[in-house]
Amino acid sequence: MVSRVIPVDCFDLVVFGGTGDLARRKILPGLFRRFLAGQIPEDARIIGAARAEIDDTGFRAFVKDAIMEFGGKAAKQTEAVAQFLERLHYVAIDAKGEVGWAALAGLMRDDVVRAFYFSVAPALFGALAERLHQHGIASPESRIVVEKPFGRDLESAQKLNATLALHFTEHQIYRIDHYLGKETVQNLMAVRFANILFEPLWNARHIDHVQITVAETVGVGGRGAYYDKSGAMRDMVQNHLMQLLCLIAMEAPYRFDPDAVRDEKLKVIHALEPVRPDDIVRGQYRGTGKGTAGSYCEDAENPDSRTESYIALKVDIANWRWKGTPFYLRTGKKLRARASEIAIVFKEVPHSIFGEEEGWRENVLSIRLQPNEGMTLSVMIKEPGPGGMRLTEVPLDMSFAEALGEDGTDIPDAYERLIMDVIRGNQTLFMRGDEVEAAWAWTDPIIAGWEARGDKPRGYDPGSSGPEDALMLLHRDGRRWREIRE
Ligand code: NAP
Repeated sequence: MVSRVIPVDCFDLVVFGGTGDLARRKILPGLFRRFLAGQIPEDARIIGAARAEIDDTGFRAFVKDAIMEFGGKAAKQTEAVAQFLERLHYVAIDAKGEVGWAALAGLMRDDVVRAFYFSVAPALFGALAERLHQHGIASPESRIVVEKPFGRDLESAQKLNATLALHFTEHQIYRIDHYLGKETVQNLMAVRFANILFEPLWNARHIDHVQITVAETVGVGGRGAYYDKSGAMRDMVQNHLMQLLCLIAMEAPYRFDPDAVRDEKLKVIHALEPVRPDDIVRGQYRGTGKGTAGSYCEDAENPDSRTESYIALKVDIANWRWKGTPFYLRTGKKLRARASEIAIVFKEVPHSIFGEEEGWRENVLSIRLQPNEGMTLSVMIKEPGPGGMRLTEVPLDMSFAEALGEDGTDIPDAYERLIMDVIRGNQTLFMRGDEVEAAWAWTDPIIAGWEARGDKPRGYDPGSSGPEDALMLLHRDGRRWREIRE
């Protein structure tokens, strides 16, 4: 099955921070792949903007290199690369000064969608919004795409929302969380709400617990100084894991409409119970050899750092659907594998007619975000062959890569899909301002709690599954974490 490509309206997309790391690795190669798929109209233009004093030619050379490095198989189509590069322009601009704004205003066209991607440091978001307005570049239909992090606590998120609201309405603001652009994450909604099969079981009566794991093998590397001010709770849980939790836990929206979906997600965040200190385990990766070499503290250049590179927590949702079914979340760096998974672990059958059958396992719906996006439902069947009624577990595998393309290259990257949604004006997969604030309102007291207690993260070995105490978080409830594996 090959996915259909629906062309979008003609656009001018300005990528502020067009020479930065995110633009190089994701945004620009992603746009090229959409071009290759035939989704980008003939007259659409992509305009890079940053302070570097380069011209169109210099920017095209930069983007060509980016496509070669990060474009995957698509990069081999050299003729298409050349055609794509012709759509690119560049303006040297200073978000905080006056340089370049008149030139950008002169470039913009009236009769096309105008979108502005803020792929710059968050400290510049407000300045960009203000300058766009001041120079008359943003029309009432223009859209802005705002990268993460969206604030570092409730107060800063509220301030940022208020600043953006001075110049743009909520319908013009696209707060990006690339986890929402993943094929599997959207499929979670399709599986839940387009099938009669799962929804009757989707509650505390039938689901024992839910595990959400986002494990990385890399450390904080060159981002150490930035990360040390943030930590896993702010960097991953408040946004990505929270969004995944919302999609699993939310009620059916009355329609697949941006505000209807986001209203339901917001209700979930409001229903989250405060997390007890005993239900949180924070960790920090140790060094690989003796001493601190390669440790988190070394990477963060902060020998006394108390920032967590790992966190596991047990979260309860206080509503009729979920009371009694805990959600266990964990995320960390330098773990044993790069793997992201949501596991819906169902309850045992009320009575086993097969007696105390060895090898019996509960049904698990596993939703893999990376690698190999897809879903697996484990079911118990009779072991084939003679020898009586012995049970065995088999996976019903729905691997999207196989279903949607020969080798999975047809699956668009999350950024590709989300940018096309911006052009279409569809906000369903973007966070609304009140959602972000509600997520911070839940997160802030948890962080304040461990700061007040002077909590120190537990050490864990690189390549492990995290600190020992995190295992206990489930053991004491008579459960166990699923293995972290690719
Ligand atoms: P980066 O590599 O540091 O790039 C920053 C970009 O902003 C550069 O193009 C830089 O070019 C430009 N810039 C800096 N100051 C400017 C100014 N005063 N006026 C205009 N342009 C200016 O950062 P990044 O990693 O791409 O991250 C960009 C945003 O995406 C950040 O909000 C980050 O948190 C978010 N993000 C990044 C990633 C990632 O994987 N990289 C992932 C998730 C979110 P000049 O210096 O030439 O101006």
